[in-house]
Amino acid sequence: MREKVRALVARECAGMTLPERARTWMGYSAEFSRKMAEEGLIGLTIPRRYGGQGMGPFARFVVVEELLIAGAPVAAHWIADRQSAPLLLKFGSEEQRQRFIPKICAGELFFSIGMSEPGAGSDLAAIQSRAKRQQDGGWILNGRKIWTSGAHLNDYVIALVRTSDSEDRHGGMSQFIVDLKAPGVTIRPIEDLTGETDFNEIFFDDVQLEADALVGEDGEGWKQVTAELAFERSGPERIYSSAVLLDAWIGHVSAQAEISDARTTKIGALTAELAALRQMSIAVAAELEKGNSPVTEAALIKDLGNSFEQKIPQIVADDLASHPEETPNAELQAATRLLLQLAPSFSLRGGTREILRGMIARGLGLR
Ligand SMILES: Cc1cc2nc3c(=O)[nH]c(=O)nc-3n(C[C@H](O)[C@H](O)[C@H](O)COP(=O)(O)OP(=O)(O)OC[C@H]3O[C@@H](n4cnc5c(N)ncnc54)[C@H](O)[C@@H]3O)c2cc1C
Repeated sequence: MREKVRALVARECAGMTLPERARTWMGYSAEFSRKMAEEGLIGLTIPRRYGGQGMGPFARFVVVEELLIAGAPVAAHWIADRQSAPLLLKFGSEEQRQRFIPKICAGELFFSIGMSEPGAGSDLAAIQSRAKRQQDGGWILNGRKIWTSGAHLNDYVIALVRTSDSEDRHGGMSQFIVDLKAPGVTIRPIEDLTGETDFNEIFFDDVQLEADALVGEDGEGWKQVTAELAFERSGPERIYSSAVLLDAWIGHVSAQAEISDARTTKIGALTAELAALRQMSIAVAAELEKGNSPVTEAALIKDLGNSFEQKIPQIVADDLASHPEETPNAELQAATRLLLQLAPSFSLRGGTREILRGMIARGLGLR
């Protein structure tokens, strides 16, 4: 599998600059995603009858790892492959599975995650968007989502919204597949620190949904979204966001006539830390392979992995600044600047550090 991914990346990503590759899973190319699908590299863990490859979590681990260390532009299919297709497989109707999953595996349909709202991030149960059932069985959706990655480019969002009032604040929620081009859906891109627009605000104004837009059971949205978040957090992507930069910096240091002990110590420490995190991530893949749901372990690795990938840009920037006699190439400088600006988001997306630590404490029985 590694050889297959490496060959694809060598073929398709040869012209990418270092700053482009350093964006790793924020780089969006529908064309690259389709090439991946042609090679059978999307939907690896999806059964063959829905267009997937019927393989296990280790196959996905290898492919994700190779893509991220190469800086391949994977954002288009990323969410559909990682969580929308597994969600539909687990909770969707047979009709929904047949309608959406083969096209996801073919790199033809791309999905967004519609969880966060202006007043509901970490406290996701505070969502206010609401779908009202109509007499014909359909639904009318109103509300607003925020930070929705890729919504300006993708086809659908799976939105968590309220469908009834409930005493239990985790009750009365449901998930819907919403066509991002449907009448009443307005998407407003939000510029991030780097000047790029990856995430969006979405406004739903009287959006009409067919009865079959509902995923799973009405009122079971919380249980489903918790399972979706477990898909989101259990892969190796939470340790590799700065891997392209780390690799380029090691290349720069190695090219110098003399390498100080301080530098080799830094490189050695980061490499050792990466090796340990990778081993832990492989252990999570092994648990998934056994059919277990390693939620606490995945949260632990995401937290440790985020700290690791966040500190690399600062270490590289400090190192380059403390060697003014060297002239690092412009691409290494640009990639360092870019990741210094992106790194704060690593421990926000997919659940913040504080929330994950709360989950770890609960998982360990300490809370
Ligand atoms: C790059 C990026 C992409 C994203 N993509 C998507 C997407 O595609 N779809 C989507 O739905 N969302 C997306 N998000 C949103 C992300 O899930 C939220 O930003 C995140 O859940 C935090 O919510 P918030 O921003 O409202 O912060 P808040 O929840 O307001 O948190 C603010 C601070 O308070 C802390 N805090 C909150 N509650 C507690 C508590 N109980 N105990 C201790 N500390 C606490 C948090 O840790 C954080 O430091 C994305 C975010 C980023 C940065």
